[in-house]
Amino acid sequence: MSAAATRLDTPVFQRLALIGIGLIGSSIARVARQRGLAGEIVVSTRSEQTLVRAEALELGDAYHLSAANAVRDADAVIVSVPVGASGAVAEQIAPALKPGAIVSDAGSVKAQVIAGMAPHMPQGVHFVPAHPVAGTEFSGPDAGFADLFDGRWCILTPPAGTDERAIERLADFWRGAGSDIEMMDPEHHDLVLAITSHLPHLIAYSIVGTAADLETVTNSEVIKFSAGGFRDFTRLAASDPTMWRDVCLNNREAILEMLGRFAEDISAMQRLVRWGDGDALFDLFTHTRNVRKRIIEAGQEADMPDFGRPHGTAPEE
Ligand code: NAP
Repeated sequence: MSAAATRLDTPVFQRLALIGIGLIGSSIARVARQRGLAGEIVVSTRSEQTLVRAEALELGDAYHLSAANAVRDADAVIVSVPVGASGAVAEQIAPALKPGAIVSDAGSVKAQVIAGMAPHMPQGVHFVPAHPVAGTEFSGPDAGFADLFDGRWCILTPPAGTDERAIERLADFWRGAGSDIEMMDPEHHDLVLAITSHLPHLIAYSIVGTAADLETVTNSEVIKFSAGGFRDFTRLAASDPTMWRDVCLNNREAILEMLGRFAEDISAMQRLVRWGDGDALFDLFTHTRNVRKRIIEAGQEADMPDFGRPHGTAPEE
């Protein structure tokens, strides 16, 4: 547990409803329980199978298949479903929301999620969209853990005119979960995340796909010699297909902008390699090495060689 995120005596929310209980929802449930951020946690997910699993993991105090039933009397609701589904969830829960309730989400895209959810929000309900910039390549209620948000940013993108006390309460909740808070407008969020998260995932999906399609290098060679660098892309490329399909469909413009820039830069690199321009390659690689150094200095990555992987005996073939 981080020093900043100790257990609270008074919960931030008396009743917290979590709609969606996968990696993000279940991590919120775990940290809320561990650090006393919510008096009562109500869990909802669309499938019986996930709900049963959430109950077995004791992630909440009450469990509902109906999202509307789950949000009744809740002080706060956090929707953690694929971004393409958040508008429909907002529509389902709207009639059951308590006046004064705070509704938030965890979506990796903001402008489209707001466009889908905001029109359903009743008068007197405070809508404060959020994106915890923390995750792994795993999904589902078993994948979550309480420390996921420790030392990570949570970006809030409230529409203009949102009640300041509601924003501050949600920020308090995320601070309690170990996060640092940043405020952004939704379009800027989507542009920043397009380069820092969406493009890296698409590049990883693309490289892994290219390697799988090669004819002159066998698939088993790709796996066997993956420690040369390839395996570092496979972590991102193993991320949830539904989530990433929805991110691509819902942050189309920003992703296309970043893909366009990337395509230009990779062509420029192709030219440097073709012309054997060692000086330019060296300069570029020196510049990029410094970017990693700065990420480590900012506490967003551990300072361990090879991501801290154990080195020793080579595995049996
Ligand atoms: P996840 O582990 O796959 O869990 C998804 C949850 O949403 C499950 O409870 C699932 O229910 C439910 N769900 C799936 N499709 C749905 C639909 N069409 N309608 C209603 N509910 C649906 O996903 P996650 O990683 O927690 O991601 C949740 C949200 O957090 C996404 O918006 C994502 O963009 C955002 N986020 C993810 C990460 C990350 O690294 N994964 C990081 C930050 C933010 P069932 O299991 O019952 O079907």
